[in-house]
Amino acid sequence: DETDSEITFRFKDLTTKLCEPEQLRTKPDVTDLKFGHYFTDHMLKIFYHSKLGGWQRPVIIPFENISLHPAAKVLHYAVELFEGLKAYRGVDDKIRVFRPDLNMGRMNKSALSSGLPTFDGHELIKCINRLVEVDQEWVPHSESSSLYIRPTLIGIDGTLGVQQSESALLYVIICPVGSYFNGNDDSVSLLADPAYTRAWPGGCGDKKLGSNYGPTIRVHNRAIQKGRQQVLWLYGPNHEITEMGTMNMFVAYRNEFGEKVLATPPLSGLILPGITRQSILQLCEQWKDVRVEQRTITMDDVIKWQKAGRLLEMFGSGTACIVTPINSIEYLGEIINIPTIEHKEPLYLKVRESLHAIQYGHIKHPWAQTI
Ligand code: PMP
Repeated sequence: DETDSEITFRFKDLTTKLCEPEQLRTKPDVTDLKFGHYFTDHMLKIFYHSKLGGWQRPVIIPFENISLHPAAKVLHYAVELFEGLKAYRGVDDKIRVFRPDLNMGRMNKSALSSGLPTFDGHELIKCINRLVEVDQEWVPHSESSSLYIRPTLIGIDGTLGVQQSESALLYVIICPVGSYFNGNDDSVSLLADPAYTRAWPGGCGDKKLGSNYGPTIRVHNRAIQKGRQQVLWLYGPNHEITEMGTMNMFVAYRNEFGEKVLATPPLSGLILPGITRQSILQLCEQWKDVRVEQRTITMDDVIKWQKAGRLLEMFGSGTACIVTPINSIEYLGEIINIPTIEHKEPLYLKVRESLHAIQYGHIKHPWAQTI
């Protein structure tokens, strides 16, 4: 019905226009999948026009460039947000998407903070599942690869001026990706420089807005120039650890009572509420051998635990790499070594293997939803 489209689009209205055989692309070799470089044959597109009753009908069409007015709000004021989630081909050949409902919740929160239209996440999940089904041969037949799903929402009014966009385009593109983990040591080195801030109280660092990412490139390049692989983002006068690169942070240490603790910064507005982060917390809360804490972690804490021999592991978490161990941090001209990969049964590996088992269908789990 008409009024409904103001609130959301519907999967039942989805139409699909398939590629002609000559439009089909050659699939890349799964052993050489550079992240975000290869896109599938089709894409999903949904327009929103407030003056035309809101959300229009979703369409799946052959992958194509998009055409925008040169004054489009997205191009000037970064009225843009995105999501990142993955589909996995399981041991039983079924394709599963990992916790898409959480991505939809986060996407709607990002939309609200940008004045972009919200929608019913279940409807988008069904449209995305259909897109993945259409391009299912692109989901790698490999347990070290997956299909990355990139929903994007942009403000497209062709008018200058920082105002709410009355029109928007939601589109979804998908790409086969390799895992960053290749069986060898995949630990990374970090540069923690308190001169740079990624997010601040009252800001938007807890939303997945494109405008949070562009300004980090210069800082990342600086880390590379100094021979470090990624940025460790600090906040405030006490140099709180917030995130690394585009991942959430975890620190495992022994507390003064000898208990093993896995700590991660709280959702205070300074970090993105990662879906991998939430999943790791939920898994570890069920494990008897570790105590889970959401707490502020300062650089002084890390140095104190390291000096006392109580610092065990540090790792990042995120959809792209799932879990990335950290081997050292450069901080105020000193190198702090982190023994993450030196343990016999490290927590980061247990976490990685548990998530892998869920994602690739080795065990049945409600987080992995077959399409
Ligand atoms: N922090 C930032 C800044 C990110 O961009 C991401 C990637 N979405 C994450 C953390 C990890 O979030 P998730 O586990 O949902 O991928």
